[in-house]
Amino acid sequence: MLNLVLFGPPGAGKGTQAGFLIEKYNLIHLSTGDLLRSEINAGTKLGLEAKSYMDKGELVPDEVVIGMIKSKLETVKDAKGFIFDGFPRTVDQAKALDNLLDGNKTPVLGMLSLEVEKQELIDRLVSRGKVSGRADDQDPTVIENRINVYNQKTLPLIEYYRPLGKHFGINGMGSIEDIALRLKEVIEKL
Ligand code: AMP
Repeated sequence: MLNLVLFGPPGAGKGTQAGFLIEKYNLIHLSTGDLLRSEINAGTKLGLEAKSYMDKGELVPDEVVIGMIKSKLETVKDAKGFIFDGFPRTVDQAKALDNLLDGNKTPVLGMLSLEVEKQELIDRLVSRGKVSGRADDQDPTVIENRINVYNQKTLPLIEYYRPLGKHFGINGMGSIEDIALRLKEVIEKL
């Protein structure tokens, strides 16, 4: 199975690129951000709890997101592979993912890490916020916090995947099409 972790800071283009990859390689897209927003829209208890973290740009507790991914993986049968988008975001989440996939004997093949300059991230998030209406894409303090949280808690994941030979840095600047091509080049070699 082609299991990929699409990695990068908020605004790196993970969701956009995941959209291309799921079509091209017939994969299943698992975005914890999207799953959490569905819970919020459905007004569930989990959604209500998650919202208090998301509104501040903080991470939702590991056990909540791990539980969501676990139940999704259990419901999907006959997948060609998964694209994990916005997950894992902590080392504990990465370990949990390895355990979950190990049960199916289908490990993560690659962590594709989109690299984008900070000012470009902020510009992209602000423009997305105007269209999506996402509160966490509109408040400059929250945007700044999300990038800081990424640098502190999520970036260390590179050192989790690198020794396993699974980390692939990809230039995430430039046009959507160019970035998609760079991703494709790496994936074809996996
Ligand atoms: P995203 O759509 O990936 O930008 O995620 C939006 C927000 O959802 C993040 O700022 C976090 O508050 C929360 N979130 C999404 N994925 C995770 C995760 N894997 N771990 C913890 N919090 C998450």
